[in-house]
Amino acid sequence: AEKPRILDDEEGGVLFLSSSASSSGYGYVSIEKQRQRLPVYKYRTAILYLVEHHATTVIVGETGSGKTTQIPQYLKEAGWADGGRIIACTQPRRLAVQAVASRVAEEMEVKLGEEVGYTIRFEDVTDANKTRIKFLTDGVLLREMMDDPLLTKYSVIMVDEAHERSVSTDIVLGLLKKIQKCRPELRLIVASATIEAKAMAAFFQTRKRRTTKLVESTTSEESAILSVEGRGYNVEIHYVEEPVSDYLQAAVSTVQLIHNKEPYGDILVFLTGQDDIDAAVKLINEEARNGGKNSSGLFALPLYSGLSRAEQELIFSPTPRGKRKVVISTNIAETSLTLEGIVYVVDSGFSKQRFYNPISDIENLIVSPISKASARQRAGRAGRVRPGKCYRLYTEEYFLKEMSAQGIPEIQRSNLVSSVIQLKALGIDNILGFNWLAAPSPETMIRALEVLYSLGVLDDDAKLTSPIGFQVAEIPLDPMISKMILASNELGCSEEALTIAAVLSIQSIWVSGKGIQKELDEAKLRFAAAEGDHVTFLNVYKAFLQSGKSSQWCYKNYINYQSMKKVLEIREQLRRIAQRLGIALKSCGDMQAVRKAATSGYFSNACQLEAYSHNGMYKTVRTSQEVYIHPSSVLFRVNPKWIVYHSIVSTDRQYMRNVVSIDPSWLTEVAPHFYRQQAPNPFIH
Ligand code: ADP
Ligand code: MG
Repeated sequence: AEKPRILDDEEGGVLFLSSSASSSGYGYVSIEKQRQRLPVYKYRTAILYLVEHHATTVIVGETGSGKTTQIPQYLKEAGWADGGRIIACTQPRRLAVQAVASRVAEEMEVKLGEEVGYTIRFEDVTDANKTRIKFLTDGVLLREMMDDPLLTKYSVIMVDEAHERSVSTDIVLGLLKKIQKCRPELRLIVASATIEAKAMAAFFQTRKRRTTKLVESTTSEESAILSVEGRGYNVEIHYVEEPVSDYLQAAVSTVQLIHNKEPYGDILVFLTGQDDIDAAVKLINEEARNGGKNSSGLFALPLYSGLSRAEQELIFSPTPRGKRKVVISTNIAETSLTLEGIVYVVDSGFSKQRFYNPISDIENLIVSPISKASARQRAGRAGRVRPGKCYRLYTEEYFLKEMSAQGIPEIQRSNLVSSVIQLKALGIDNILGFNWLAAPSPETMIRALEVLYSLGVLDDDAKLTSPIGFQVAEIPLDPMISKMILASNELGCSEEALTIAAVLSIQSIWVSGKGIQKELDEAKLRFAAAEGDHVTFLNVYKAFLQSGKSSQWCYKNYINYQSMKKVLEIREQLRRIAQRLGIALKSCGDMQAVRKAATSGYFSNACQLEAYSHNGMYKTVRTSQEVYIHPSSVLFRVNPKWIVYHSIVSTDRQYMRNVVSIDPSWLTEVAPHFYRQQAPNPFIH
């Protein structure tokens, strides 16, 4: 075996021990030849054959082998989009949808939005007549089923990134299986980067086979499996010798170490979220600007959802000569996107994952250890161009002994309120009996039913109520926000509710970044409302309109102009939906009405300040969980007695983001079943 090689640790106290080697990757070729030289190209005929002869084809292939960008094109070339039909390809992530659609449009030399288009929530870049290949999120595909339950406009649906097991992917697969029974001509492709396709294959009753090459079969109901063999370059794995305490700092020093010691080649760093990514980008770029001896020629770019198109393009553009690019990414670069030119990977070993606890009824995003499968995927990103190296910021012992082999499907870690209402709207009445790829826990389902019942969305028989239930299902938002909009109709403040809903749909309207905290806080104070964040949003929105939607004004007030433009767009779409649902557009300027509308949607997130708490501790009304107001809220340190929150983020504590003060008497008024112990609950006997 190879001798462990110890790299020294001048910079950041990171010691690496080289040990194993894994393989993956693909050699560099010019963009024109790239299509034909992708591993998937050799399987073109096989794929087309299988799709023609089988209702379902499962395709397994290493990230970067060409599944996403090539297969839809092959299908189109083979005539699957003739006669006005459409080839669909779903992705769990919006950013991936945009990126692959624009790549495919580029390869086909067509204008994005015409022959090749994409749809994500609140953004439809397709042409009803011209679009033949359409990329969309699996969430959008679910929404489309509400209008067209059999998805009749699609000839082939490729459910991509199935190994990610997002909530919507799992639900879409269950529903597509039903649709296939009514539409035998529909073709389904399930594409996955890992061999976990086994679960998928079993789900679609694929005959067990040692894969590769062609599988002959004549019956089309039977599904087929094909695995695309990629050519691989070795990736040398390095582990730290001692566990690192600060993975952000360790990642930055590792990047500088690589830059110092290793030949050319770009670096991909996996961190967890926008905050730590922005911080690392800043550290690296500042050091480079200040002429740090380890950083000349080094430049860092962030990669996470919510980047603008211009920022995305930078990620994909070739690195200038004599420079070294560092892309610092969430797990979006793990399998969804392939970046050319990466030779080094730095893996923090963490990602942000959704966790829901049906006992506390709290869902949040928690920085959590990744699985071995993810760690292997991450390492594989280093071997596409030539032999690469992966630096794991955890010990080999940890990898071998403590990392779990696979992640848990998201559906078993999520609050199911949104999913249940969608299934109900699609006529799936027996949620427990739904054909789940992995069944969620009964507690989680009961919680969801309970909340939906209290929202007035489900009746005593757990069927959608009319009109409220159907209306809530129709609005493409979290059911609690949708309910707020419907309640605002009666309270005469729908204009305000639409604005709040639009703002809550984007990440933040404030400029982000460390080092400007004081200025940002001062800017917030200019708009801050004693009632809470929701009312503050209304103040910002009003002032933004008064400024003539000025970018200058945004800049002065530490407000993100791009975000505000997005708010305008989303609000306009919501306004149209509201009108279609017969909601009268009214503004009343009465903030009590606005808060009450918010309570009608968010009553299950009500909290009370602990009577003798000096540190702002709240307890959730339903389950007595300890929670605190997030420092980004205008009510941080104000601590009104009663509030409802929009979401929870968890770091050292559970922090509530976007909170608004309420009157506790509203709770029993808007949700008697939820808050009155004696009230009968049809779901718990
Ligand atoms: P897979 O889906 O199997 O992971 P893809 O179809 O996404 O593979 O990628 C195939 C090839 O296309 C890769 O070599 C990748 O680098 C290239 N590619 C994909 N998207 C882009 C893009 N937006 N810009 C440049 N190259 C891209
Ligand atoms: Mg792909």
